[in-house]
Amino acid sequence: MLRLTFLGTSAAAPTLGRGLTALGLRAGGELLLFDCGEGTQRQMIRYGTGFDVGAIFFSHFHADHYLGAIGFLRTLSMLGRTAPLALHGPRPGRRLLETMLFAGTEKLAFEVEIHEQEAGAEVRRPGGVVRAFATEHRTPSLGWMLAEDPRPGRFHPEKARDLGVPEGPLWGELQHGRPVTVEGRVIAPEGVVEPIRPGRKVVVTGDTRPCAATVAAAAGADLLVHDSTFGDEEQARAEETAHSTAREAGRMAREAGVARLVLTHLSTRYDTDPGPLARQAREEFPASDVAYDGLTIEVAHRG
Ligand SMILES: [Zn+2]
Ligand SMILES: [Zn+2]
Repeated sequence: MLRLTFLGTSAAAPTLGRGLTALGLRAGGELLLFDCGEGTQRQMIRYGTGFDVGAIFFSHFHADHYLGAIGFLRTLSMLGRTAPLALHGPRPGRRLLETMLFAGTEKLAFEVEIHEQEAGAEVRRPGGVVRAFATEHRTPSLGWMLAEDPRPGRFHPEKARDLGVPEGPLWGELQHGRPVTVEGRVIAPEGVVEPIRPGRKVVVTGDTRPCAATVAAAAGADLLVHDSTFGDEEQARAEETAHSTAREAGRMAREAGVARLVLTHLSTRYDTDPGPLARQAREEFPASDVAYDGLTIEVAHRG
């Protein structure tokens, strides 16, 4: 299962309908959080993501993206969590998170591993690899790309039987693309198993100007989640504040050749009517949608 739940879609300040930035991604049997703005834990309850978080990936350390982690980790501790939790993010994540989490008098009941990461870093999780790429914001910032592990090709048991391969470990070998020997005969996997199927790919930019690194990271992705703080009429402000417009996000999606674009991190100006953002993005890239709190997307396998 690869399921995204948008937990907060507002930029800078929350509104009645939108919380601060956070995105839950269920992959490989665990929940990964991308950013954790204030109020995220309540959104997780509201939208039923579960609390079995394996790691939190921060895009950068502006307050609207990380303050929710303080309360959330306290809650996990209170609920009796013992499994360690990994936090990943750019500079100055270590100093900031350590102060935030350990300077108080309450101790957490589980271990927190803080990893200050740079572009190119790879984090192995049960569902695949999460890679950091450089983005362009006013502070050190990273985008994150989840590349699911490739799946073995479809296996045809009847063909294996026809070729005289007995059910058991030899089937497993064939499924993993390795030839097997049965009574002196070498059986190639090609006749029995279809080619390896690529895993799904999801990219989350965090706050950023449009940049080449996003296009490279998102090349052929199933889903791109992009900063879309402003509309056309605030192009200058987008540049000043190092954010993107919906149209620019659409261009990134088109250049990267992704299957689908979801716009998030909306200025409060578009809180109740994000229509203009959707229209502007779709002029560049038709498969664009604007996120709302609680939006859930199941990323399907292609082919
Ligand atoms: Zn932000
Ligand atoms: Zn920011």
